[in-house]
Amino acid sequence: MTQMDTKLAQVGLSTDPNTGAVSPPIYHSATFANKGYGLTNDYYYSRVKNPTRTQLEDTIAELEGGAYGFAFASGMAATSAIMQLFVPGDHLIVSEDLYGGTHRLFTQILSRYEITTTFVDTADINKVKESIMPNTKGILIETPSNPMLRVTSLQEISDFCKKHNIISIVDNTFMTPYLQRPLNFGIDIVYHSGTKYIGGHNDVICGLVVVEREDIAEKLTFIQNTTGAVLGPQDCWLVLRGLKTLALRMDRQQENAQKLAESLLNHVAVSNVYYLFSPLMNLDTY
Ligand SMILES: *Cc1c(COP(=O)(O)O)cnc(C)c1O
Repeated sequence: MTQMDTKLAQVGLSTDPNTGAVSPPIYHSATFANKGYGLTNDYYYSRVKNPTRTQLEDTIAELEGGAYGFAFASGMAATSAIMQLFVPGDHLIVSEDLYGGTHRLFTQILSRYEITTTFVDTADINKVKESIMPNTKGILIETPSNPMLRVTSLQEISDFCKKHNIISIVDNTFMTPYLQRPLNFGIDIVYHSGTKYIGGHNDVICGLVVVEREDIAEKLTFIQNTTGAVLGPQDCWLVLRGLKTLALRMDRQQENAQKLAESLLNHVAVSNVYYLFSPLMNLDTY
């Protein structure tokens, strides 16, 4: 993990070529002047591209081991943008234990556009296999899931999706790239609510998406620019700052959560504890 720790601690460090600023500048500019008549600038309008956002997008892409990153105004904006890859008539298989907002997006918004969903326990690959239909175009999983912490095999889902030419999508909010990098398993799209562990300070709402495939990146670039739910530069900077301490925070929160879960195991009023205990722990002693 040393390499990841170091990468995180150095997020955004001295990346401004103009000034050498150690902390990345926040570019509060809606538009950018062209360099001259007929000469275009890399940046011209901040919905399309903003330098502070680019910094965050490149950072999350690198951390997830992908090629293209996208920053959105919220986790739900990110999920909505991903869903715009699909068209009426498409069917998706989705983890039945799922963040409430994502469930609502499928049942109350996407259903209106004739995008249909089957919710199954994706931890059981046989249930996934049984749910496939001729029009199945995507599988979306949370692993571990929110709130029941069910675990789905990234490899099984990735292999299944490749075999059937289905887009695989993973909500990596609970693990963050510090603990889990779904693209390494061949997953097509990984996304986050950056509002949670990645931001880490309860001061920003954010969504992040990373892909490796250029064809999907091109479509997401078009969707992000056209529908416009981008993350503002100030918020991008807050997320970049939050990322620097991600390794430390994740280690400590796991330590604390494990202690809490252990003490609940011993509590007379508690019959079930849903927690991903370390495989090294001997649960028989509880
Ligand atoms: C919070 C959350 C979301 C939604 O993200 P917002 O930033 O609140 O829009 C999506 N997935 C999971 C697992 C979450 O916990």
